[in-house]
Amino acid sequence: MMITKTKIEKRTLFLMIKIYCNYHHHTKDICDDCSSLCNYAVLRADKCPFGTRKPVCAACTIHCYNLEMRERIRKVMRFSGPRMIFRHPVFALIHLYREITDKKHKNLKVLRYGK
Ligand SMILES: [Zn+2]
Repeated sequence: MMITKTKIEKRTLFLMIKIYCNYHHHTKDICDDCSSLCNYAVLRADKCPFGTRKPVCAACTIHCYNLEMRERIRKVMRFSGPRMIFRHPVFALIHLYREITDKKHKNLKVLRYGK
């Protein structure tokens, strides 16, 4: 099985939402509310017009989340981002690395996709 960028990103997303949920909603796994947020985010990733060349969302030029979900996911990222380093350092580093490289290539992408 090939591990794609998107797969890693979905896994990272799930882990970040889980950290947030465990702390704020006192769950061991993930509550219904957070699981629907996760499903929404995964769906957006699947429908991302960049496809497999999808940049990490922080470096993306299209903001495809609706306002409410965007606010929710932003809260999750802000809370879980720093905690990922300790809980899941491998995923955190991959994400960090990709965020830096994607941002560096942002201008290039903008030209290539005509957006
Ligand atoms: Zn929750």
